[in-house]
Order: sequence, then structure tokens, then C-alpha cells
Amino acid sequence: MHGDFKRDKTYEFGALWGVCETDALDIEQSALIQRYVDAKIMIGLLPLGSAFSATGGKQTAFFWSLKLEEYDDWLNSPFENWQQQVASIWPKAKPYVDQFSNHGQLTLASYHDTALKTYSKGRLVFIGDAAHATSPQLGQGANMGLMDARRLAKSLTRLDELLDALKDYENNRKKQVRFYQMMSHYLTPFFQSDSKVLSTIRDLTFHPMSKLPFMSELMMQTLAGVKTGPFSSLKKI
Ligand SMILES: Cc1cc2nc3c(=O)[nH]c(=O)nc-3n(C[C@H](O)[C@H](O)[C@H](O)COP(=O)(O)OP(=O)(O)OC[C@H]3O[C@@H](n4cnc5c(N)ncnc54)[C@H](O)[C@@H]3O)c2cc1C
Repeated sequence: MHGDFKRDKTYEFGALWGVCETDALDIEQSALIQRYVDAKIMIGLLPLGSAFSATGGKQTAFFWSLKLEEYDDWLNSPFENWQQQVASIWPKAKPYVDQFSNHGQLTLASYHDTALKTYSKGRLVFIGDAAHATSPQLGQGANMGLMDARRLAKSLTRLDELLDALKDYENNRKKQVRFYQMMSHYLTPFFQSDSKVLSTIRDLTFHPMSKLPFMSELMMQTLAGVKTGPFSSLKKI
């Protein structure tokens, strides 16, 4: 499909990710929490539950925003200095970051903004990130992939002609996917960039906006993954 991309961009910022055991910490945490310094530094703690734990205990994903070009510098700097930096910015994160003992325990994830011109070519069909990767700021990548799968199954069941079914799948998914790709694209620099202006706008407006009745509903629907445009929502997949 080379040449069939509408867009294929790697974001300047990615993040380091690692998994912490949290049972022994005696910390009740049920939601994603993040701390920022402007948009340049972001630390996050995302509860994972216990499904993937070897011991059956609760786990939390720890992440640290990092420019991809700064990864080698990070690898070559003393690990303890970075741990101290994390703890000084956000003391709550100390018991998490202290569980790591070396750089190799954290994995660098890069983020992509990828859009294909069409979701199928002949009998080949793309769903999920293969069709439309976004930065994870809205947390919708997995949702979009699952909705693609459901819609594709529906189209294949309804239509006898394979190529018609693949077109039907694309026609039914494109509007929503486009909305989330656009939102992720424009929101990402508010959370991961060098821009002091954007982080200041974020700090001054996002929280007050979430208190306005109309805006709070709009924001909730967006985060729930059901929007298809600024003023439209998904009725069913
Ligand atoms: C750091 C990070 C944080 C994220 N946070 C969130 C979040 O909070 N919420 C959310 O909804 N989304 C989040 N996402 C996005 C989400 O993970 C993806 O959108 C989602 O996993 C896409 O699902 P997928 O099935 O399309 O692709 P993938 O999950 O990438 O699955 C593709 C699979 O295909 C396999 N594969 C690749 N090539 C081959 C091959 N040649 N042969 C056989 N197998 C192959 C891969 O190993 C992989 O298992 C995040 C992504 C990242 C990187």
C-alpha cells in the first residue's frame, strides 16, 4: 500500500512506559492520573488491574513523555538522576518510579498520525491502527479498532458481494474515524509540545470548559468515543 497514505507522520514526542506492581503500595487508584509541567513534561499513572500480573496482584502503567530525539541522551544519563527528577516534580510518583532500577525496564513508544486514502484495496482490508493510527491523547485507538471490527463483520454479513461489503465498511467508519483523528491531531500539542502558549491555554480553559453544561456533555461524549463530528454522535455501529 506504499503511496496510498493520505498522511503518515511520527510525532516529535513519544513516551517511556513501564509496569509497576502496586499491591504493596497501599494506594487506592482507579483512574488515569497525569501531571504536567507546561506541555513539555508529562508523568502518568494508568491502573491496569491484575489480568496480566504473574502474581495476581494489581499493576499500574507508569509513563513519562519524551521527545524521540532525546531518548539516547536519557539512556546515557544516570538513571537515579531521572528518578529524582520524577519524584521532585510529582512526589506521588516516587513509589512507582522507584520500582525500576535501570533504563531497560522502560520501553519507548512512538506515536503516529496515519491515514490511508482508502481502507481497502481489492480484497485487502485494513482495520484499527493499520488504517488510522492516532496519538493516544483521547484514548480512542482501541475503541476505534473494535468498532471497525464490528462494522466490518456487519457489512460482510449484510452484503453478498465482498467488494461492496468492504466499501460499506469504509463508508460507515470514515466519518467517525476522521473526527477522532482530527481531534487527536489538534489536541496533542496541548499535552506534548514545547509550546508554553498552548499549555497555558489548556490550563486556563479546559477545566472551566468542562464545568459548562453543554461543553461537559460534548467532552464526555468525545472521551466515550461516540462522536462523529462536533455536533453529531454515533447512534449505533
Ligand atoms: C503507548 C500507547 C498508549 C496507548 N494508550 C491508549 C489508550 O489509553 N486507549 C486506547 O484506546 N488506545 C491507546 N493506544 C492505542 C491502542 O493501543 C491502539 O490503537 C490499538 O492497540 C490498535 O489495535 P490494533 O489491533 O489495530 O493494532 P495492534 O494492537 O498494534 O495489534 C496489531 C497486532 O498485529 C501483530 N502483527 C504485526 N505485524 C504482524 C505480522 N506481520 N504478522 C502477524 N502479526 C503481526 C502485532 O504484533 C500486534 O499484536 C495507545 C497506544 C500506545 C502506543
